[in-house]
Amino acid sequence: MEKQKQIDILAKLISIKSVNDNESEVADYIESLFAPYQDQGVQIERVQYAPGRDNLVVTIGSGDRILGFSGHEDVVSAGDESDWQTDPFQATIKDGNLYGRGASDMKSGLAALIISMLEMLEDNSVSGKIRLLCTVGEETGEYGAAQLTKEGYADGLAGLIIAEPGNDMTEIGYTSKGVIDYIVLPQ
Ligand SMILES: [Zn+2]
Repeated sequence: MEKQKQIDILAKLISIKSVNDNESEVADYIESLFAPYQDQGVQIERVQYAPGRDNLVVTIGSGDRILGFSGHEDVVSAGDESDWQTDPFQATIKDGNLYGRGASDMKSGLAALIISMLEMLEDNSVSGKIRLLCTVGEETGEYGAAQLTKEGYADGLAGLIIAEPGNDMTEIGYTSKGVIDYIVLPQ
């Protein structure tokens, strides 16, 4: 995919005001990007949390093991928009940096996941099965992720890549699920 098209996808995501609401518009747009690949067996599922607030699940490829991709569709409030030097809901590129609400957290990460999947579909090079989980309300309680988990969409994932920014963006954080038991011994 050409770089400009990649930037256009991110810009479109940023232009959608999904401040803890209205995630369905983000889901609509992502769905429209994957719709042309239905003939490659792309599965698109909408999981409504509330009216106007849809989680979206996109599954591509085939196989027993599923690699999960995850990102949230909502952003935090832009606050007082007069404090911004650019329109928060219009991606603006200045000096090689892109500005806009969600440019970091986390529409860029979401765009990266989407673009990587679209590129695999474009080349017909999907290896294995990948499931993208786009969630609502991450910034205010992570109830979209909880809903998808409860409804089984995360069942059987061999791994999960979450494109959330963190660690000062200098490294990839990794973890595993499990339990830590502590035993406190007397001195
Ligand atoms: Zn985030």
